[in-house]
Amino acid sequence: MGELNDRLKEDIRPLIDLIDTLRSKGVQKGLDLALPTIVVIGDQSSGKSSVLEALAGVALPRGTGMVTRCPLELKLRTAKDGIDWTATLSYKQMNVVSGQNHSPYILETITFRDPLLVEQHVKTAQNELAGEGAGISDELITLEIRSPDVCDLTLIDLPGITRVPVQGQPPDIGNQIKTLIMKFIRRPETLILVVVPCNIDIATTEALQMAQNVDLEGTRTIAVLTKPDLIDRGTEKGVLATAQNKKIRLHKGYIMVKCRGQQQIDENISLEEALEMERVFFKKHKHFRRLLTDNKATISTLAKELTENLVDHIKKSLPLLDDEIRKQLREIRKELNRIKDGPPQDPQGARQFLIKTLTGFNDKIKLLSSGDLIITDNLFTQLRKEYKKWSDQLNKRKSSFNHEARVKEQITRSRGRELAGFSSYRVFEMILQDHVDQFKDPAFILLRTIKEIIIRQFCAVSNECFQSYPALLRITRNKINHIQSSQQIKAEERIQEQFQMEKMIFTQDDIYFNSLNENEIERFSEVQLPFCDVATKYTEMLKAYNGIMVKRMSDHVPMLAQHFMLKKAADHLRNDMLTLMNEADVHQILSGSSDDSRRQRRDLLQSRRDSLNMAMEEISKCV
Ligand code: GDP
Ligand code: MG
Repeated sequence: MGELNDRLKEDIRPLIDLIDTLRSKGVQKGLDLALPTIVVIGDQSSGKSSVLEALAGVALPRGTGMVTRCPLELKLRTAKDGIDWTATLSYKQMNVVSGQNHSPYILETITFRDPLLVEQHVKTAQNELAGEGAGISDELITLEIRSPDVCDLTLIDLPGITRVPVQGQPPDIGNQIKTLIMKFIRRPETLILVVVPCNIDIATTEALQMAQNVDLEGTRTIAVLTKPDLIDRGTEKGVLATAQNKKIRLHKGYIMVKCRGQQQIDENISLEEALEMERVFFKKHKHFRRLLTDNKATISTLAKELTENLVDHIKKSLPLLDDEIRKQLREIRKELNRIKDGPPQDPQGARQFLIKTLTGFNDKIKLLSSGDLIITDNLFTQLRKEYKKWSDQLNKRKSSFNHEARVKEQITRSRGRELAGFSSYRVFEMILQDHVDQFKDPAFILLRTIKEIIIRQFCAVSNECFQSYPALLRITRNKINHIQSSQQIKAEERIQEQFQMEKMIFTQDDIYFNSLNENEIERFSEVQLPFCDVATKYTEMLKAYNGIMVKRMSDHVPMLAQHFMLKKAADHLRNDMLTLMNEADVHQILSGSSDDSRRQRRDLLQSRRDSLNMAMEEISKCV
């Protein structure tokens, strides 16, 4: 991408390098820093890999079916002219040599100079991480490409969204993929590149909805429209309106690109040739050529837009990152202080010490679950944010809940021997039942998110209380995970029930009439409604009922989640911890706190502290 002007490059370089340094430091030292990146999401075969390879100027594995099975981090780095194309592929692998002094992972690294080998190497790495079948894994594969012809960008390609598992795939593959995608796009530091083909109905694109759900203001979502050469005749105007941001409005709008189609790949059209063909395509296109003049088309426009956004985003993220580092430093200092005192050696004293430690933990869990203790981030703020997203989702579809056409169609379709004008309740019920069904997946996703948040918070408490006692820490973490999983099953059952009940379509008459009359000029009365002809009012009636359902669900699901995953889970955990107090082998529970391991822990903490300090220094150079 030679299009980027030099000024931009000079701006970008130090920032991208900074993020790179922080990332590699972070990986080495086991720090968990949230760093800005671009993530590519979309349905399977929407053209994600095609867009990526056009940006990268390198062929990526692709074909039919699921090709991307692990998150693939693509680091593009401009090299000086005259430097040959070089790629380095790396991923974590389980260390076969195990033992205390060995890390559980080793970093597998392969360097090569032939672009044609990318596909094969990525495939091999995916097979190592996700198995030979069609499963997926969350482990990251990193492919760094240095070449004079690429721009400075880091992107992550994710598996495409599928609904129907193919042979060899787990039945919940759809959910696994969505969870994986959520994990990446939920982070506020992530820019989301949503890839949508022009030839499908964009309103129903799940990827776009997911992005909108996590990025409510739309400030970090960029939409790419692919396959403009494959649209049906006569739909050009509609597609153009979408591309001009006149239909589904996005804060950052859309960019249309044309990548290589299957035929062009079969004909060995190079990526460079394809870029030229893309330009000609837009120039000659009767409808889309104005996108070219508006800077809303072509891969190179996209590259430029992305880089600008990323730089902007990095600049915005730096102060947050700085805060985060300071917070981690405070934690480390606290622990370093704590590490000085260990448990007494005599049995009596040791048990007393254990009881004190466990009681301290239980008290904290109690305070945490009642909102009176803030460990890392405020738990209830996080929960509330998720609840709000859930209710936004319900409400968003409420405003788009307009079924006039469906009502008509259904009435026509279900009409039997009756004379015109006599319509059936079945239609009403069916439409609502379909509508309710849509929320099942989001409800389960909400529950999983809540679970993750709570696990993180509970683990933070145990880290704080038991940091110097690895055995105790391990026992507690296992308990936390175990309790959360069994609570999740219970909550899922209840949510399932809730949905079954919602499908009965029920509410009290007075509630229904209130809702019906809420936004109506013409009032319905309890006396008159049962006797008048209401088929023409179906739309209003559907809306009224939907409003009631939305209210009910928007409270009920979060209440269930909170009751099972937080309140009950905290009770169970505290009970479980009490039983530990009577455990025979106090020394075993408190083991690992020998002078040696304390020293090791202290060294680790000190080296983390040093690299955090260094990271902070690096950041201060850039802001
Ligand atoms: P992914 O599953 O989202 O990574 O999708 P791919 O990038 O593998 O693309 C799926 C298919 O669509 C491939 O056969 C591509 O060649 C084709 N394709 C992608 N973009 C375009 C485009 O702009 N025009 C045409 N005609 N085909 C495209
Ligand atoms: Mg792909």
